[in-house]
Amino acid sequence: MISRREVAQLIENMGGKILITSHKNPDGDAIGSALGWFNFLRKLKSDLKVILYDDVPYFYDFLPNVGKIVSSKKIDEQFDWAIILDVSEVSRTGFDSIPAKNSLVIDHHVTANPESTFAIVEPTMPSTCELSLEIMKFIGEDLIDYEVALPIYTGMVTDTGSFGYSSTTPQTLRNAAFLLEKGGINPYTVIKNLFERNRLTRIKLLQKVLETLDFALDGKIAHITLYQRFLEETGAGIEETEGFIRYPRSIEGVEVAVFFKEYEPGRWKVSLRSKGSIDVAAISSKFGGGGHVMAAGFEYSATEGLEKLKEQLFYAIGEALSQ
Ligand code: 5GP
Ligand code: MN
Repeated sequence: MISRREVAQLIENMGGKILITSHKNPDGDAIGSALGWFNFLRKLKSDLKVILYDDVPYFYDFLPNVGKIVSSKKIDEQFDWAIILDVSEVSRTGFDSIPAKNSLVIDHHVTANPESTFAIVEPTMPSTCELSLEIMKFIGEDLIDYEVALPIYTGMVTDTGSFGYSSTTPQTLRNAAFLLEKGGINPYTVIKNLFERNRLTRIKLLQKVLETLDFALDGKIAHITLYQRFLEETGAGIEETEGFIRYPRSIEGVEVAVFFKEYEPGRWKVSLRSKGSIDVAAISSKFGGGGHVMAAGFEYSATEGLEKLKEQLFYAIGEALSQ
């Protein structure tokens, strides 16, 4: 592991063709850090590309240069460097491999297991965007203008639950203030674009998903389920489920919320949220995933349904809750 200052130096010295990438199903932190670095490095480097495995959801379309992000299931070119953001494992980028001579991971997941030449992983940082900002400051504060500040601020907002999660620190708010000032950002620009442009398809999907609400462990676990057919019935995309998990989490007495998402027939993405009494990253690790103490997930394949998984998962959560 190298220090923030060393990472800054490494980035300053990067030459040749540089690839910026992040995890599949990109969220605000993935897109924000990728675009933040792209817009920042544009001023210093000539050969830069951002490639993500999945499409960027429409609610990020207000970010400067979002149209420059290439969505592709494989990377055909060879790069000298890859900057891999908000993820440490190649498999989670979606790509079979990252075709670069050298690579640098910048990440904040407690379960991170970097597969790169260099890595900085700071699990106490609430977002990769904020960690990126701290590194950028070593390279040059003057380079942090509107087009850098807006995506970085956006990723900070989404990964901290609008500066509400316990991961938020005094320094996070100082950094947010710095970005508002330096970038001339209106915070409502971000909130309005992210959260106040829901399509009717999303609300219809939410309706169906909330009908599946169920409980386990005397109401300590609340879970919701998205079946493939819901997407067909409503015309919504899977990315429109962003934020649904807050509803089961918000219920009084619930300690852990679980969202089972069938993203392809028989293939499931499981999201977990804790209210603080247990570490869901540790639980997810047992099922081959990872994440953060309060927010984590894993993938699961099952054609026969979810009963077996639910039994094992709820048992693991129950054990953790009783400790
Ligand atoms: P979400 O539930 O929003 O998809 O993910 C919550 C957190 O858990 C994110 O920080 C994400 O990186 C992590 N996470 C979700 N799914 C997986 C997974 O399959 N593997 C790993 N290692 N982390 C995951
Ligand atoms: Mn993140």
